[in-house]
Amino acid sequence: MNVTTENEITATAAFDVMRYRADFPILGRHVHITSKSPGRQLVYLDNGATTQKPQQVIDAITHYYSHYNANIHRGVHALSQEASAAYEAARETVAHFVNAASAQEIIFTRGTTESVNLVAHAWLRSRLNAGDEVLITAMEHHSNIVPWQLVCEEKGATLKVVPVNDNGELDYEAAAALLTSRTKLFAFTHVSNTLGTVNDVQRLTAMAHAQHIPVLVDGAQAAPHLRINVQELGCDFYCFSAHKTYGPTGIGMLYVRGELMREMQPYQGGGGIISHVTFEKTTFVEGPLRFEAGTPNIEGAIGFAAALDYMNAVGLPAITAHEHDLLTYTTAQLEQIEGMRIIGTAPCKAGVISFVVGNLHPYDVGTILDQQGVAVRTGHHCTQPLMQRFGVPGTVRVSFGLYNTRSDADQFITALHKALKMLA
Ligand code: PLP
Repeated sequence: MNVTTENEITATAAFDVMRYRADFPILGRHVHITSKSPGRQLVYLDNGATTQKPQQVIDAITHYYSHYNANIHRGVHALSQEASAAYEAARETVAHFVNAASAQEIIFTRGTTESVNLVAHAWLRSRLNAGDEVLITAMEHHSNIVPWQLVCEEKGATLKVVPVNDNGELDYEAAAALLTSRTKLFAFTHVSNTLGTVNDVQRLTAMAHAQHIPVLVDGAQAAPHLRINVQELGCDFYCFSAHKTYGPTGIGMLYVRGELMREMQPYQGGGGIISHVTFEKTTFVEGPLRFEAGTPNIEGAIGFAAALDYMNAVGLPAITAHEHDLLTYTTAQLEQIEGMRIIGTAPCKAGVISFVVGNLHPYDVGTILDQQGVAVRTGHHCTQPLMQRFGVPGTVRVSFGLYNTRSDADQFITALHKALKMLA
């Protein structure tokens, strides 16, 4: 599977990155300003951790608080009705973004982590028995490991793991062999946050569905970079966090394919999810509200929708192509460096590059890059088992967003050369 088509390459040529950069006020700032120094112009290459926010998102949140802040779904007054309408319109926007069949298939959560936990508790827990298995992969973020591990431990079930090869690609044959009548769920990432590998979701889902095994896809690192079409992917659950798609923190989504939503038990008790309560028994509403107990993150949903509108306006194919250009441009320069080891060399990658140089500690490299204004991530990236697989304690990770430029890449490479000289 190749994520960059000819049309998308044409889109790169027309990609007006400087116009988009102007939408992100934070990109104009300097870091490490002192009384003696104007500091360094920020070069932000830590988009895998979180993205910066365009003015359109900041304005949408400010507008909500300035004009129609109210609690939703329970008020008859004008502000409550406006806020409720905006919250439900946001659900529609998210549904369109992933091409869900209906907004009723979208649950707002606190983010990817909560989405995975929700499925573990509201869906899997009551179905899992001793001797059953949950299948994940060796490239999962801790968020897509630990929730399953906890439920497996409680139920006496086993967590099984699909291995990755030296390029950081999944072993699809091993996956096929590990999917058995004991498997109750297959949960895997769409794009690896550490390796950048883009997994073939359709193929993996088809393999699982051939044995009637439901599939959860962690889309935290895919939604910022690729067009998502849950109906085409065929998965049963899909989730991602708004803060990685240019939206606010504390909000995310969980897509649940129609019928499965009806099989899920309430995740948390509280207001907003009930149809009737007595001291003897509570009955619950149907649909996503059943899983959104308490006052939700209203501003977050509104900001989330503004962010997805923003990405749609830029265009997902154009974003994919632009970031692919940055990936190949930067990788080629990194490969010239003596002692460079790129962890994750799959042919199909999103804009993420993890690397180590010789025996240098990633933390030291990252610190010197930071002193020069270049923000990257260092460490295990919440993928400790993957670090063990590649025999490294951590990596330096560069991850691109739609506003990054080749000049950012050049500044990063210059700063890296300086860091390597200092650490030699
Ligand atoms: N899954 C992947 C692949 C991620 O990269 C991340 C965050 O980095 C998560 C899950 C967890 O996302 P959040 O912390 O927003 O819940």
